[in-house]
Amino acid sequence: MACIFCQIIKKEIPAQIVYEDEEILAFKDIQPKAKIHLLIIPKKHFVSLNKVRKKDKEILGKLLWQAKLLAKEFKISDSGYKIVINSGKDAGQVVEHLHLHLLGGEELKNFPI
Ligand code: 5GP
Ligand code: ZN
Repeated sequence: MACIFCQIIKKEIPAQIVYEDEEILAFKDIQPKAKIHLLIIPKKHFVSLNKVRKKDKEILGKLLWQAKLLAKEFKISDSGYKIVINSGKDAGQVVEHLHLHLLGGEELKNFPI
């Protein structure tokens, strides 16, 4: 079975999509860890940051740029936000499709960094 985020990209399972273009999808996290919790993903499947090759590195800038724009759109630019990428076991990565977490809308007390 395809990965869960690939299924969201193909609209095979629903998600609250907040941004979409040819290369990127952003949607609300199903179990938000903050008042605003968005996931920003490349449409191309990468298991983690480790798997992004040089030829695809431009997508990393695009994901970060989109996170910045979404922070503005969701009105957390001024109050502050965190952008997190979990990669691998020790980071607690659960979904094996590269994603940025954009978190904000409240004081992020439960994040050690
Ligand atoms: P990770 O721990 O891999 O960095 O984060 C995966 C995130 O994906 C978690 O915050 C989890 O709540 C979210 N998630 C997992 N499955 C789904 C889903 O089917 N839909 C949405 N919108 N979020 C999901
Ligand atoms: Zn995938």
